[in-house]
Amino acid sequence: TGRLAGRAAIVTGAASGIGRASAQLFAAEGAQVLAVDLPDRGLPVAHDGVDGVRCLEKSVRDADAGTAIVAAAVEAFGRLDIVFNNAGVGINALTTAMTAEQWDTTIAVNLTAVFRLCQAAVPELQKSDAPRIVNTASVMARFTDYGLPAYCASKAGVAGLTRTLALELGKFGITANYIEPGAIQTGMTAESFANEEIAAIWAKKAALRRLGRPEDIARGALFLASDDAAFVTGHGLVVDGGLTLR
Ligand code: NAD
Repeated sequence: TGRLAGRAAIVTGAASGIGRASAQLFAAEGAQVLAVDLPDRGLPVAHDGVDGVRCLEKSVRDADAGTAIVAAAVEAFGRLDIVFNNAGVGINALTTAMTAEQWDTTIAVNLTAVFRLCQAAVPELQKSDAPRIVNTASVMARFTDYGLPAYCASKAGVAGLTRTLALELGKFGITANYIEPGAIQTGMTAESFANEEIAAIWAKKAALRRLGRPEDIARGALFLASDDAAFVTGHGLVVDGGLTLR
């Protein structure tokens, strides 16, 4: 039972934050979930004792990541219905200081890996009766801040990529949507939000006057992955508590 009963899902970046919450929410809603994250991030511990979640320690940046992750899901579950590309890195450096490696890592993990996994998943998603692609972009797909040339470019890239996937894959019944989280308390923001002043500034910027929780984003991802969003495709769902209203 549940809103994802009988479905098989891949969730990347699932050792922490949004990905961890989403993998567990999808499983609680009846899906079988392949949770993917880097080795040494405590992925198995993050899902210890959680029914319906299996773990695969693998970098989405590996050249074979797309095909290997899809193959692991199909081997484990015999099918694939939902791909949630959520793994990401937040590397902050001004344009004048950014190294080639920082740029390449950001684009490789946040954008190229998303393309590769989506591309590899298409043949399996075509066999599903409710195939879904959900990608994590950011409000930084439309806005920016100091030090985010690569991050911003990667997330705007995810938005453009996802709209194109929606257009091209619609004929197979595959929907493709992305989420734009605002300021969320996760591993990525832990260091800056550990500073209470900085956390308060970001909380105050949001109309709802608080930081987001991983569960806030997981519920948005669940909607886009569920039957409720059957006719929604190419859409960017803003889940930011009103951070970007003005
Ligand atoms: P997080 O750091 O808690 O989680 C990100 C996860 O991705 C980590 O577990 C990390 O190990 C994993 N990851 C990084 N590189 C990987 C790789 N090469 N292979 C596999 N896994 C890898 O942070 P989060 O905030 O939960 O991030 C999830 C997504 O949300 C990211 O795409 C991020 O850009 C996006 N996002 C976050 C915020 C925010 O305020 N936290 C806002 C907008 C968008």
